[in-house]
Amino acid sequence: MVSALSVTVSLRDRVLEILSAVHDPEIPCISVVDLGIVRAVRDGAVVITPTYTGCPATIAIEASIRAALDRAGLADMKIETTLSPPWTTDWISEKGREELRIYGIAPPPRGAAKQSLREQAAKCPRCGSSSTEELSRFGSTPCKALHRCLSCREPFDLFKCH
Ligand SMILES: [Zn+2]
Repeated sequence: MVSALSVTVSLRDRVLEILSAVHDPEIPCISVVDLGIVRAVRDGAVVITPTYTGCPATIAIEASIRAALDRAGLADMKIETTLSPPWTTDWISEKGREELRIYGIAPPPRGAAKQSLREQAAKCPRCGSSSTEELSRFGSTPCKALHRCLSCREPFDLFKCH
């Protein structure tokens, strides 16, 4: 039962479209595709690289991906996890970065994974000021650090780089 549409749309595109609706439970504004977790779609398998090893969200994300594939009739599709190369915040797409900003989480600057967290200029997602300070290494979740803007005085989460 192959419709005219599914002939022109590749399985990869279809899977990416399905996964574009799957969100990180801790950062609901951004899809797993824009977060860069989905590394590849092969014949019969989706390859994912979890953001933070040991982050409880990782298990939840995998379960969400599984559920989305099952719902779309792709129950045969496997989920493979690869930890090498490790996930980096550089894999977050431009669209994802914009969505983080709108959500009030400062997106990490590109290439920041190579620098230490303290060297990064965290930009306030509200007013754009680089004059910010770190209040706590742990924000609302272990994946984020709590910062405060010295210009508008608003606290905000910074997505941790590694
Ligand atoms: Zn600000």
